[in-house]
Amino acid sequence: MGSMLSVSDVSTGAEVQGATGFLTIDLSALGRNYDRLASIVAPSRVAAVVKADAYGLGAERVATILSRKGCRQFFVAHLNEAMALRPVLPRDAQIFVLNGLQPGQEIACTEGGIIPVLNAMEQWRRWSTTARALNRTLSAVLQFDTGMSRLGFPPDERPALAEALRSDGTVEVLFIMSHLASADEPDSDQNGEQLAAMRRIAVEFPDFDMSFANSGGVFLGDAYQGALARPGIALYGGAPTAGVPNPMEPVVSLAVAVVQVRTVPAGTKVGYGGAHVTQGAARLATIAAGYADGLPRSLGDRGAVYHEGVRLPIVGRVSMDSITVDVSALPEGTLTLGSFVEVLGPHQTLEDLARDAGTIAYEILTRLGSRYQRRYR
Ligand SMILES: *Cc1c(COP(=O)(O)O)cnc(C)c1O
Repeated sequence: MGSMLSVSDVSTGAEVQGATGFLTIDLSALGRNYDRLASIVAPSRVAAVVKADAYGLGAERVATILSRKGCRQFFVAHLNEAMALRPVLPRDAQIFVLNGLQPGQEIACTEGGIIPVLNAMEQWRRWSTTARALNRTLSAVLQFDTGMSRLGFPPDERPALAEALRSDGTVEVLFIMSHLASADEPDSDQNGEQLAAMRRIAVEFPDFDMSFANSGGVFLGDAYQGALARPGIALYGGAPTAGVPNPMEPVVSLAVAVVQVRTVPAGTKVGYGGAHVTQGAARLATIAAGYADGLPRSLGDRGAVYHEGVRLPIVGRVSMDSITVDVSALPEGTLTLGSFVEVLGPHQTLEDLARDAGTIAYEILTRLGSRYQRRYR
């Protein structure tokens, strides 16, 4: 926490750049989070899930740092994310496409050196046909559905898959994987059910290493870790487990500029719809970020921002480009035009903001807007 950027650190340069918000991404904290996960699962390895632009933090920067840390396996959701990443990663780094092999993507995959996660027999057949046409062996990962009903070979395709593996040498399987639906809830029965299902699959497909744990899974214990953990949110400082202290270091802080300050009497309507009416005289500040910048509308009259530890509640609805906060708790004159308030930082975590917005840290992170000036440290 002590290493987090303080709000005063970022007030210089705002005018020069025209930016009204600074999103600071602490790449050394990211690196330490990776090391921490690596030490927990050792001797198993840790991949990095960098889909959705590394949860909004910048996939190129994130992947570059993690590859320097020794990470060699990177997961994205879509082929175009993989293609964008390929040139920035070392040759021996592997990039896997979680959403599978879409029809028509086979050649782009082979030419780009991208490894598909095959999710169904139909995908296997197309990959194997491509391998035969090119007269070479192609690598793939096999994902199994162990109870999430989202991606992966359904149970009834496993016999056909096992037969194809026996009779067809065109596809080299690097490892098998599955994804946990409730890993952030250690008490959920679904974890044990999925583990049991994965163990049955490992018996049916004994020749391969297994990748199982996401961030939450890493903290469920050895049984869940498999040979290759696939954390996302924990790398980026999000809490891997709900309801317990977060063992990860924060990576993201967000400071947003004050663009207007005013004093209003009791009974004053604030924002769209006049949804908030001041109870007493109040000092209000308008802050330069709104739902277009990833502050959910559900924060209206619920969430807060901070100034040097003082909570400043959001009043009225969240606008597209701004929110209004009640700054009456601060001495008059504390905030002026060009002052910054903390949206994410030492006093407000991703989880705090997500809870107030009725969502999860993942959604907050991946929606942080493109209008902030990003700073990498
Ligand atoms: C997104 C994703 C992950 C990473 O999950 P976190 O909860 O962010 O650690 C891992 N595996 C798969 C298949 C995913 O879709």
